[in-house]
Amino acid sequence: MTIWSFFTRASRAFHDYPHASKLLVLCTVSGGLVAYSESQSDIVSPPSVDINQSEPRKKRVVVLGTGWAGTSFLKDLDASMYDVQVVSPLNYFAFTPLLPSVTCGTVEARSIVEPVRNIIKKRKGEIQFWEAECIKLDAKNKQVICRSNINNNLVGNGEFHLEYDYLVMAVGAQVNTFNTPGVLENCYFLKEVEDAQKIRRGVIDCFEKAILPGLTEEERRTNLHFVIVGGGPTGVEFAAELHDYFQEDLVNLYPSVKDLVKITLIQSGDHILNMFDERISSFAEQKFTRDGIDVQTGCRVVSVSDKEISMKMKSKGEVFSIPHGLVVWSTGVGTRPVVKDFMEQIGQGKRRILATDEWLRVKGCEDVYAIGDCATIDQRKIMEDIASIFEAADVDKSGTLTIKEFKDVMDDIIIRYPQVELYLKNQHLGDVTDLFKDSEGNYRPEVDIEQFKLALSHVDSQTKNLPATAQVAAQQGTYLSRCFNRRNECKNNPEGPRRFRGRGHHQFLPFQYKHFGQFAPLGGEQAAAELPGDWVSMGHSTQWLWYSVYASKQVSWRTRVLVVSDWTRRFIFGRDSSGI
Ligand code: FAD
Ligand code: MG
Repeated sequence: MTIWSFFTRASRAFHDYPHASKLLVLCTVSGGLVAYSESQSDIVSPPSVDINQSEPRKKRVVVLGTGWAGTSFLKDLDASMYDVQVVSPLNYFAFTPLLPSVTCGTVEARSIVEPVRNIIKKRKGEIQFWEAECIKLDAKNKQVICRSNINNNLVGNGEFHLEYDYLVMAVGAQVNTFNTPGVLENCYFLKEVEDAQKIRRGVIDCFEKAILPGLTEEERRTNLHFVIVGGGPTGVEFAAELHDYFQEDLVNLYPSVKDLVKITLIQSGDHILNMFDERISSFAEQKFTRDGIDVQTGCRVVSVSDKEISMKMKSKGEVFSIPHGLVVWSTGVGTRPVVKDFMEQIGQGKRRILATDEWLRVKGCEDVYAIGDCATIDQRKIMEDIASIFEAADVDKSGTLTIKEFKDVMDDIIIRYPQVELYLKNQHLGDVTDLFKDSEGNYRPEVDIEQFKLALSHVDSQTKNLPATAQVAAQQGTYLSRCFNRRNECKNNPEGPRRFRGRGHHQFLPFQYKHFGQFAPLGGEQAAAELPGDWVSMGHSTQWLWYSVYASKQVSWRTRVLVVSDWTRRFIFGRDSSGI
């Protein structure tokens, strides 16, 4: 039985036997715990030697950021090979997929964070951590300038610089307001743990204010109007959490205003969750409509004041305003100023986002790597190299390629230009040699350069940018640490594909992303999931799958136990509504 048919059957069984599903989740979670505890036994405790005494000098690696990308890099790095220093303004890692749950107290903030020092102390070799922000990158002199952001009356100015041999940028992204007036001043964001805590207090303040004596009904209604801008996974999940919080807990605590609460979700596109399968986005829209969440699609917010939010309806072009109590802005991500400044220095100033090559090396800069949300991979187009590929493949220098000559380089082509494989799959071409067929479907014994170009001319249209997700960031961190660990080994025995425009082979295999699917929790103990192989699952059983996956993905035993106990507490006692 394939894994997908197993999932399909399991999903059906979950629907039919909901209690059985809960039991299975418990088994899965405990299974995850056992697997994790086994993996921990491999961890070697840090040596007590002073790294500065070791000779010859180890290469200095500076890592900026301790989010998904930075932490996964550090978790797998053999730190005994390098002199590793980590800089981040936050001394913890935050499990961001559970941030929406923190906004309503389903999960406590401390349950989803792990101190960086806990993570690095378990690594092989010594890693130094500095709680500071990188304020400038100086690529020419290979150094970073940092400043501590701890501003109380402690002595010292807190500014320092670090020199590096290799720099790993993993600073993530910042919220993107698209320069919409009033957003920075009047909206809440949902990017960091502190943001989630602010929203939690903000929601309760809206309720407390709405029941004060002396307010008109209209004023109470305005205070209880919650607006979410952005119909992506985060905005949708927050809307669902807020709806559950109100329906399950607050309705009993604030009965006098229970009919005045309204949640509006604004999306500029035609559908919410439009990066998911159509079935999921229409399921989500129908569920929200049933729940009474007002979904406004095709609307672009033009400004936000402390009392009103104004938007433009795309279809009619008309601008209208609605009063609000609280607005959460959750629309995409933008580049951090320190990265923008660096891009100017290295000639990437005209780009929107920092570009790396397929080995995650920043383009136009030596020994600097960028992983996670702060960068994007600029996949090399096959058409840029088509002449070199043809020349390299044409071993007998006949000016034509035979099928055999083509087949001999195909593996290297597929590794170097993964869009070729995607193209073959999307065109339902079973074999690469199908590219050799003429317009009547007959195999040509040989092709010349023009026919070769024509056969591959549409391949590059399959190139896609990877999404800004934790999954991508974590896989990039793990990939990069593997390259760092194998640097010496692969210098002599390169593992990468052949170079078509030069000699020999690339030192490493390029980064390749594996998509394991994505979830969208929709409230009321229901979720939707899109898994590889076009497998879509929606409903209560998927929510239990979500619980088990997110419990098993926690970075430590400690956070796993805390998160599972928070969920249990919420099931038994409900969410806490104190405005702390
Ligand atoms: P981050 O995790 O943002 O980490 C950046 C790090 O850099 C932080 O430690 C920060 O303190 C540090 N830093 C910032 N500036 C500096 C500086 N100047 N110098 C040094 N350090 C700096 N993705 C999924 O795959 N699934 C999900 O379910 C999901 N849910 C999400 C829910 C929410 C609410 C949010 C906000 C995001 C969610 N994501 C999800 C996306 C995911 O969190 C990001 O893609 C991921 O965090 C990117 O990892 P990163 O390491 O690049 O950046
Ligand atoms: Mg030939």
